[in-house]
Formats: sequence, structure tokens, C-alpha cells
Amino acid sequence: MYSGSGKTLLASRFGTILPPLSSDESLSTTRIYSAVGRLDDGQSLVLQRPFRSPHHTISEAGLVGGGSTPAPGEISLAHNGVLFLDELPEFNRRTLEVMRQPLEENCVTISRAIGSATFPARLMLVAAMNPCPCGYRGDPKRNCNCNPIQVERYVSKISGPLIDRIDIHIEVPPVPFRELTNAKEGTDSATMRARVLEARERQAHRFQEDRDQLNGKMAPRQIRTFCKLDTEAENLLKTAMETMGLSARAHDKILRVSRTIADLDGSDQISAIHLSEAINYRTLDRAGWA
Ligand SMILES: [Zn+2]
Repeated sequence: MYSGSGKTLLASRFGTILPPLSSDESLSTTRIYSAVGRLDDGQSLVLQRPFRSPHHTISEAGLVGGGSTPAPGEISLAHNGVLFLDELPEFNRRTLEVMRQPLEENCVTISRAIGSATFPARLMLVAAMNPCPCGYRGDPKRNCNCNPIQVERYVSKISGPLIDRIDIHIEVPPVPFRELTNAKEGTDSATMRARVLEARERQAHRFQEDRDQLNGKMAPRQIRTFCKLDTEAENLLKTAMETMGLSARAHDKILRVSRTIADLDGSDQISAIHLSEAINYRTLDRAGWA
């Protein structure tokens, strides 16, 4: 996202379009806040999806958890909510790398000589980065003075394997502040949430054996069962794999995301249109991006 695109505002609104916290989710998130003494005075339950946005100077223990007596980090404080990492390339690269496994497993285990502790960390990761160190690359109204080497170095601070684990990449153009605060057009959160709830209902129906399962977490076996493509979509995916040089992980992500796009469209069949939208969300996989 570009600077001035209102990214923090956008990220903080994510929770409002997700389904409200279920009582199980509320309890498991409350348990973490209670363990670290983070509940407000008089608060007995966490009732809203958490929104955490730690600064890029955060330590590894602060982000994923740690300490001599293992304590949960930001990824667990964001459990059942949103973790927003602004200016992603500015985070310590090693710190980001240790986050990879918890992102896959929805929990983090901290091992110490005295024993180990496992904390839940099922979260939506929202990360933002500028297109270049100064932030104005591609901005029609401002001049960017970064040279190609500086841009390349900036973008390459984020590892491919981490980018691979992020489902959706989008470029957000700068928006004048007035348009953000005065938005008359577009869809409001309540309408979006209603659509999300409908799509979740389709998912719950699909994964009858486990109603908490989500498209984004489908195992390869489920992808083969539930993401069948017609010939047109099949060919489109094949071409994208070849021209964009996508990894197997990106291939599966595209299928999971296109399943959700089809669900939001109320469609059982994933069409070429759904699939191409999902392919468009892999901006950072494209060699031409930097
Ligand atoms: Zn620049």
C-alpha cells in the first residue's frame, strides 16, 4: 500500500466485516488477555475481535512470545482478531521468519528448559509496505527519488517464503483524506459483514464435519475436492503458473482464495472470472513488481 492510502484505518476496520466473536472465540481470547493481565478494570470477557498493531522495532519475544517464563506475544494477543504490521520491510527479518510457522499452525510453542508452553495464534495478518523507501513510487502527484537498486533492496527485505504465506496482495493507490472521511459511495461495513456471513455459511455447509473450517485453511486433499475448475479456468491457471513462475504454495493459495471469491458470488462452481481475480491478488509474486 502507498503512504497516504489510509492503510491503518483500513486495517483497523477488518474486524468489523468479520463475523462477531463466537462465545468459544471470546473465551479463548479472554484466557490470553487474562494470563498477561491485559483485561481492563471490570472487564470479564474480550467481546471484540482484537486489533494489534505493534511497531516495527518490536522484539522477537514481543511478537511471537517468549521470555524466561514463556509469555504470549502479539500474535497471540491478536488471536481471533487482526494483527497489523505496518511498514513490513522495517521489521527485523529474523523476527518475521519466526512468525512463519505459527501462521501455518495457528499456534506457537515456546520451549524452555523448565518446559514448554503453547499459545493459540489464529489470526488474520494484515501487512502494509510502501512501494519504495520514500513511499512515493507510482504516486501521480509526488516525485520519488529512489533509484532502482534502493527499491530492489527495500522490497527484497521481505523474504519470498513470507510473501508466499500471505493470501492476498493488493496495491492501494493514495486517496485524498477527504474521500476517506466522506465516503458516500462504496459498501459499508454492515453490508460487507452480511456478505461475509453468507459466504461463511456456504463454507460451514461444505465442511460439515468441521464447521469452524475455513476455505483459507483447506488441506491439499480438500482443495482437490472442493476447488474443481472448468476447462477455461484450468487453462488460465496453467498459463499464470508458467508466466508468473508461481510456487506450489501460491498455486494452492490461488485456489483457496478463488473458492472464497466464488462463495461471495454465491456460486458453487469456480469460474475463470473468480480464478483471475484470485490470480490478480498475487501482485508480489510477479517479477515486474519491483
Ligand atoms: Zn521512492
